Formats: sequence, structure tokens, C-alpha cells
Amino acid sequence: MEKRIYNLSAGPAILPEEVLLEAQKDLYSYKGSGMSVMEMSHRGKIFDAIIKEADADLRKLLGIDEKFSILFLQGGATLQFSMVPLNLMPPKNKADYIVTGAWAEKAVKEAKRVGAVNIAATTKSESFVRIPKQAELKLDPDASYVHFTSNNTIYGTEWRSEPEVGSVPLVCDASSDFLHKKLDMNKYGLIYAGAQKNIGPAGVTVVIVRKDLLERSSDALHTYMNYKIHADNETMYNTPTTFGIYIAGLVFKWLLNMGGLDEMYRRNVEKAKILYDAIDASGGYYKGTTVVEDRSLMNVTYVLPNEQLTEKFIKEASAKGFSGLKGHRSVGGIRASIYNAFPKKGVEDLVTFMDDFKKNN
Ligand SMILES: *Cc1c(COP(=O)(O)O)cnc(C)c1O
Repeated sequence: MEKRIYNLSAGPAILPEEVLLEAQKDLYSYKGSGMSVMEMSHRGKIFDAIIKEADADLRKLLGIDEKFSILFLQGGATLQFSMVPLNLMPPKNKADYIVTGAWAEKAVKEAKRVGAVNIAATTKSESFVRIPKQAELKLDPDASYVHFTSNNTIYGTEWRSEPEVGSVPLVCDASSDFLHKKLDMNKYGLIYAGAQKNIGPAGVTVVIVRKDLLERSSDALHTYMNYKIHADNETMYNTPTTFGIYIAGLVFKWLLNMGGLDEMYRRNVEKAKILYDAIDASGGYYKGTTVVEDRSLMNVTYVLPNEQLTEKFIKEASAKGFSGLKGHRSVGGIRASIYNAFPKKGVEDLVTFMDDFKKNN
């Protein structure tokens, strides 16, 4: 078989090899059915079992009880920037947003079309190099919800624990660190995540929503935009992205087989430490771009002494099989995305490459 590269892309991103091989085995004829998952009815018995298992496995992984509905939607996290305010802002029509990066800004832009947005905190003036402290949050106790972005894919910062928001429902864009660790679901009103960073192919968006919040969804909303309709129809109001849900389901099983999210988190902490330790031990040759206490376990951002070296680094890394290291165009430098599926061996090999590059340059 052809050799795989070390894929450090921010998204769409690496998937577990075991998942790809299993999907490959079943691609032509899914478990003796004579057809691919892509070719079968979403209302047939086989796909019904696939989506029910995906729902059950996700509940097991995160400890999600019957108070929540799980939806597998389309439109990416970007559509959720609109669906969240359209469904949850009424009747008060005001919400708090904590702005920690470009994705949060995009969420704000859509929310403003629906109602009043209070920026509870922003670190924009510091180029988003950190997460605001609890004491900095100017929360409105009467807000419809508080929105935050758990991991800032572009800047490489991540919340260590959720902001404390009292009894106001907490809404999270978890697109780039979903399922990287166990969460206390009691803290959340709604979590959404595009699949393509950490749990599957582009096209599926997971929405976990507390059922009592569905009462806010107005009948006046366009049908696809209405959470309650998707929940009442168990994601089957229209044709969902069947193949994407199937792959996400395989990723959920991969996580369960590994020992669940506590084990996944242990591995993520271990992997990130190897890389951050190498950056910190480089005597300033490599410099992390964020404050140390808010460093992301998923997207490791750093810079080299200058542009020429950065370009050379990316080129030589690419020749050695490390792909996707170029930082986001708005930040520059290097971004190594080491999501759940990225192997520890890959991080160790990257660190060896970084040490060699430093010696030679
Ligand atoms: C990638 C990303 C998005 C955008 O997702 P789309 O699926 O392209 O809409 C939103 N939020 C975060 C945190 C992301 O990393």
C-alpha cells in the first residue's frame, strides 16, 4: 500500500487509519448488503442502524443523557452561526458572545442579524493570543445564552475549562476540539461542531442541544433552520449526509475502543507536551505565539526567526512527509494541528525534524 504522510492540516484533517481501512473494506459492499453506504436509502434498515449507533456511541463518549437531542446537520459550523441565534435568541433577542478569534467574530456577525449582541469579552486588541479570564467577562444575567469558542483553530488558544455563566445557557462552537476530552454536559445548553477537524469528513455538523431549549424554536423559522423540526424527526427531516455520519460513527467506535475520552485526553496532553517542550527548549529559535497557560492541545502555533526560514522550514518539512504546517494566512508562521487521530510517533518525528532544522539553519 502507498505510504501515508504526516497530515498536520487544520481541516479537513487527519482521520484514524483504522477508520479509513474499515471504510475501505466496506466501501464497495457494506457488510454484505451489495451496496455502499453512499448508495443506500437513509430510511432503510441498514442506515437506520448506522445513525442510531452513532447517536448511542456519542452519548456513551460524552455522557449525554435524554435531556439532550443529537442532530447530524449540514452547512458546517458556519450555518450554526445563524441557526443558534435564530432558534435561541428569542424571545429576549439578546445574547452574550465571548470573542477569542476570527470564528467567534463570524458567529457575532450572524447573531447581530437576529438581535442585540453583547461582547462579554474580547482579546482582539492583543491579537487573540489569550483567553479572557473569568473576572473579565461582562455577562448579562438576562441574556438568552452565552456563546464561546472552545478552541481557536487559527490562533492556537483553548479554554482549559468553560466560562462560568450561572443559569444562562452556555453555547459552544467546539469545531476544532470536539471529543478531545470528556465534558461536563451539565454546563452546556448547546454544543456544535463541524466534523472535519476532529471527527469525520466535511459535510456533517454535530449539534447537541438541551431539549428544553427547543421550545424557543419558532414555527416562523424556515424549515431547515429549525432545530425543533430536526429533533422531532431525529435528523431525518431531509436526507442527511449519510456517508459522513457513517464515518463519524466509526470514529466514535475508534474512541470507545481506545478507552474513551479520558484516554484520548491523556494522549492529547502527552502529544502536545512533546511539541511545546521542544519549542520552549529551542532557546528562542522557535517561539510559541500564544500565552503559555492558554495553549491549544489541538493547534500548536509558533514562529521561526524570520520569513525566509519559515518558508524553508515548510518546504523541507514537506519533502520529509510533514504536510499542512503553514500557519493561517492571517497569522503566518507555523501551525501544527495534532488532532485526536494524529499519532504520537508523528509528533516525535516532527520534533526530531525541528531539532535538525535548527542545527542546520
Ligand atoms: C473550521 C471552523 C469553523 C468553520 O467551519 P465550517 O465547517 O467551514 O463552516 C468554525 N469554527 C471553528 C472553531 C472552526 O475551527
